[in-house]
Amino acid sequence: MNSPEFKLLDTMSGEVKPLETLEPNHLKFYSCGPTVYNYAHIGNFRTFLTADLIVRTAEAIGWKVSYVSNITDVGHLTEDSFVDSQGEDKMARALASKEGEHFHNVWELAEFYERAFIEDWQRLNLREPYVRPKATQHMREQILAANQLVSQKNAYETPSGVYFDVESFESYGKLSGNTQDKLREAVREVVLDENKHKQADFALWKKDDQHLMQWYSPYGWGFPGWHLECSVMARAYLGDTIDLHGGGEDLIFPHHECEIAQSESLTGKPFCSHWVHTRFLLVNGEKMSKSLGNYYTVRDLLAKGVDPLAIRYALMGGVFNKQYNFTDQGLRDAGRIIERFAEADRAADVASGADDSSSASLKEELEVLYQECLEAMLNNLNTSVALAKALEGQRIILRQGGKLNAKSGAIAKEFLNKINQLLGIVRPEYSLEISTSQSQAETDLDSALIERLIEDRKSAKKNKDFTLADSIRKQIEDMGVEVQDTPTGTIWKVKSGI
Ligand code: AMP
Ligand code: ZN
Repeated sequence: MNSPEFKLLDTMSGEVKPLETLEPNHLKFYSCGPTVYNYAHIGNFRTFLTADLIVRTAEAIGWKVSYVSNITDVGHLTEDSFVDSQGEDKMARALASKEGEHFHNVWELAEFYERAFIEDWQRLNLREPYVRPKATQHMREQILAANQLVSQKNAYETPSGVYFDVESFESYGKLSGNTQDKLREAVREVVLDENKHKQADFALWKKDDQHLMQWYSPYGWGFPGWHLECSVMARAYLGDTIDLHGGGEDLIFPHHECEIAQSESLTGKPFCSHWVHTRFLLVNGEKMSKSLGNYYTVRDLLAKGVDPLAIRYALMGGVFNKQYNFTDQGLRDAGRIIERFAEADRAADVASGADDSSSASLKEELEVLYQECLEAMLNNLNTSVALAKALEGQRIILRQGGKLNAKSGAIAKEFLNKINQLLGIVRPEYSLEISTSQSQAETDLDSALIERLIEDRKSAKKNKDFTLADSIRKQIEDMGVEVQDTPTGTIWKVKSGI
């Protein structure tokens, strides 16, 4: 079967070019997932949404998609984007932080944020990957890969770990342009590990017998490098060569550059044919950051009563390969549009009565609009145009109002179904309790936290650490919750008026 071309900007060549799959009509796609040390923010979700839209568009032209998106639950260090293998493990640092206080250990923290992440993912109508592997579940493959690279002399051991020798991989820099020559003078020269042969070399394994998450390897106790995780998981589920690999723009270097070096050294084959990177989301014109107070998680917005599909719609307003400004106004507009899609959907559901011949022209109009919408997505995921086409169809349906009859109602429904398949903006696709009541979802999620805090307070009181017990009580109360100690135990309830 001849399917249409699906064009996408490829970071390696800098060109918008057709996705070529190794197997006809079968896309093997690996998209880097989150590090689960905190709630993901809407910037992260802009990147995951790009992946989702690629999957949906490929499926809309009849491709099979093997879509893998991982969970990083160990090894991503705080300085990893700037200097190799420096800083603390993000997971360990989160456990040591204030928020980390109510988790008993780092595993529990990872599990909690992973669960929260998947909930947010589903609220935003993101397609489930066919597998969501975790770095901690692929330790054996990572150790074997490090071993192989050492025995091939692509890597070497030092007192602090195992490092990939970038000079052993001639085309290092082909994705990011950070070639070895450039790197010699670049920022990485400031890095301090004097045991490394060259500062541009990067860690495959960090030796650390004090680390909270450690495994035994031929190099002693330690944990894997962040880059190795993705090389190994991509290979485990998709094979030696994949068709497409994606992430946010900050992953081009070092993360993806290092993945290429490792994977191609391990297999002797090309690692990936096409690279897609989502430019950053800005909030009200500024870089999103906690200190500027413009840092939103999905649940921050849900708590304000925002419809999750409005978040999705607002994130789709700009094309993925340009930075995009998320504004309060944009979100409000998106909310109104999402309501109208729901209205059109209801109108199509209740339509009845005999056909009056208007359905033929409606069918033609909506079919053209759907085709134009799909074409826009096939043309480098042009979401701005695709949304405009979807919106035009929605307006046509709403203009029919009560005139929709059984036949034209079915035509409208078919259009909305197809738009929902492609763009995910008409109705929630997961039957989650949370999707029927966000505030309930918030409460459910916080319940787990509150219960845990109450347990911690109980232990603090048992250990006669009343200062800690009081500070935990304050922390719970700051969440808008009233705590009461009763003869049968501690109970809590949401403070009235909140
Ligand atoms: P992390 O959990 O830090 O590994 O990030 C998960 C994904 O979100 C990565 O692909 C990042 O590149 C991406 N990302 C981080 N910040 C933003 C942002 N502001 N806009 C878009 N993507 C982002
Ligand atoms: Zn990755």
